[in-house]
Amino acid sequence: MKMSVLEEKLRQKNLKITPQRLEILRAVQRHQCDHPSAELIYQAVKKRYPAVSLATVYKTLETLVQIGEIRVAIVSGGKTRYDTRMEQHHHFLCSYCGGVQDIEMKMDCLETYCPESLAGKGTIHRGEVIFHGICHTCENKKNPPCPSICS
Ligand SMILES: [Zn+2]
Ligand SMILES: [Zn+2]
Repeated sequence: MKMSVLEEKLRQKNLKITPQRLEILRAVQRHQCDHPSAELIYQAVKKRYPAVSLATVYKTLETLVQIGEIRVAIVSGGKTRYDTRMEQHHHFLCSYCGGVQDIEMKMDCLETYCPESLAGKGTIHRGEVIFHGICHTCENKKNPPCPSICS
């Protein structure tokens, strides 16, 4: 996105582009593959802006979601995980390491398996699936750690 467009969107929310806010957005983009949590973004931004607070990170991430710059991928173990990929895709969550990976799946595949009970609820525009399991990296470890969801 062009900086001027982002600036305009933030201005509509009565927010200015500050170096900190920009760095927060950049950190989400850099950590796209991780689907980072607010805590991870906070640790990353703190390296360049030691004065940044976790509250500012939370608030900025919330605003970025509101203006459609990023979105919530999943909420797992009480933590929100963010995503800069806005087009529809699905996620695979490893319950051991908490890793989140993108899964590509065609919409018609979803429609095929869409339960009839869902059609009775209203018109479905899109659907996103979270697959839960254990990733290959964790599988290959002899003694995988305790699932992060129970810690
Ligand atoms: Zn894993
Ligand atoms: Zn994703």
